[in-house]
Amino acid sequence: MPSSADNFSCMNATWEKVLAELRKRMSEHTFTAWFEPLGFLGIENSVLRISIPHRFFADWIAPRYSSEILSLACNFFSLPIERIEWVVAQEKVQEHQEKGPLPPSFESVTSPGWISSTTEGVLRRLTPKSRASDPRTPELPFTHPTTHSESARLEEATQLAARYRLHPRYRFENFVVGLSNQLAHAAALAASERPGKRYNPLFIYAKVGLGKTHLINAIGHHIRDRDPCARVIYTSAERFTSEFISALQQRRIDEFRARYRSRCDVLIVDDVQFLAGREQTQEEFFHTFNALYHADKQIVLTSDLPPHQIQALEERLVSRFQWGIAADIQPPELDTRMAILKKKAELEGIALSEEVAFYIAERVQSNIRELEGTLLRLAMQADLQKRPIDLALADFVLNPRNKEEKERGEPSIDALIAAVASHFGLRRDELIGESRHRGVAIPRMVGMYLARSELHLSYGEIGKSFGGRDHSTVLNACRRIAGLLEQGNPQIQLAINAIRSTLFPDKSPSASQGES
Ligand code: ADP
Ligand code: MG
Repeated sequence: MPSSADNFSCMNATWEKVLAELRKRMSEHTFTAWFEPLGFLGIENSVLRISIPHRFFADWIAPRYSSEILSLACNFFSLPIERIEWVVAQEKVQEHQEKGPLPPSFESVTSPGWISSTTEGVLRRLTPKSRASDPRTPELPFTHPTTHSESARLEEATQLAARYRLHPRYRFENFVVGLSNQLAHAAALAASERPGKRYNPLFIYAKVGLGKTHLINAIGHHIRDRDPCARVIYTSAERFTSEFISALQQRRIDEFRARYRSRCDVLIVDDVQFLAGREQTQEEFFHTFNALYHADKQIVLTSDLPPHQIQALEERLVSRFQWGIAADIQPPELDTRMAILKKKAELEGIALSEEVAFYIAERVQSNIRELEGTLLRLAMQADLQKRPIDLALADFVLNPRNKEEKERGEPSIDALIAAVASHFGLRRDELIGESRHRGVAIPRMVGMYLARSELHLSYGEIGKSFGGRDHSTVLNACRRIAGLLEQGNPQIQLAINAIRSTLFPDKSPSASQGES
């Protein structure tokens, strides 16, 4: 017969499986910080008992993961489990008893005598490792709460979190790293692993829509995830300014200063270029910066330009912004744009094929917000028209003029073919026929080019109208004509201008040129 110790080891192995499954569902750092220190104590009367190094583990884990842990445990143990009992490890229980009752959010804590003789041996092994002595456990950004002032910090941190809300989706997990942003990403990660140490201040700059706000929110989340007591203020220079002004008006400047200077562990300020030209706010921000910096608190800033290029920013602020590290984000390359689209599609539950992702990524190049906007518009159209997201729909959404122009009575593809044929003295069926003779092939290519540049039809649609040719034939034709135009070929230029003025009598010949 197996002994109860054997039975316990067996259950403990099952618990490890529960942990392994949970591990897959969160980032590695969250798992290491919060789940590795947990110990399995047993299951009794449908209650799963888990040991934690400190009650704050229960405060943090319970609201986020209780139901997931319960459902996994029911599955793996094949037992009905109704609730979790969080048991603070022995040395901590003593401390809490001296401090009086635990808060109600704490489900239950057993007395110091909870280690039964059968589980004692296993438990010693399972008792959470000391953080300092375990090299695998990352250094937590701020000390773990054990004193009264620490619970005051938790209270303040919670209030700040409610007041300065982070964007829930702007997390490191959702940030795609590529050549264009890898430095900024690495610096952001390093600053959130060891706030207030090496990368202080962290200054991220980039043009609009390239991920600054996303990245600094990720820093805020990462720090809060690892230490719920970290008092993080995430704000914008604009909000800082308006809070400062209303604090002055309402004579609450002391409260404002206490919040920003002494009750803050991490200050994240978006778009500091907004401070430009605001002397009084810059003065206030200067002192805020100094107070935090000298107390080794992490400061994170973003702007559309590097510090020294921000106009009307006091020199002393410029120089302070350069004390730490400044990292820029460049427009993403094609691969990164595709990866971002796929990530976004996955998050939004949109079915996006490789080919459509490529189609969008190739066309929307400079701004990620626009890239996402295009994807969402596409998803919305697909939904409205009850059809899948394919190349034709992508083309329709990316070239909205198609529809409008058709509705405004713009020339049809047939009218265009007729105009091209007439200009070159060909019959329609010759133009769209099989002949590869130069005298027909070039006019045909001009026709395809115009269908693309003037009617904004998709390559597929154009191919169909030109005798059932495929997408790549049309693409090559368009490229060839665009190339000839670029070289300044006079015959092609003349032909195109003439056909354009037939089709669009009220547009000047030079109104639109070149391949998009
Ligand atoms: P910025 O603050 O630089 O103007 P944002 O951070 O607001 O830009 O980014 C615009 C949009 O693009 C956001 O929805 C953001 O999630 C997304 N985005 C930017 N960079 C990335 C990235 N590397 N991976 C995933 N999404 C990104
Ligand atoms: Mg922004």
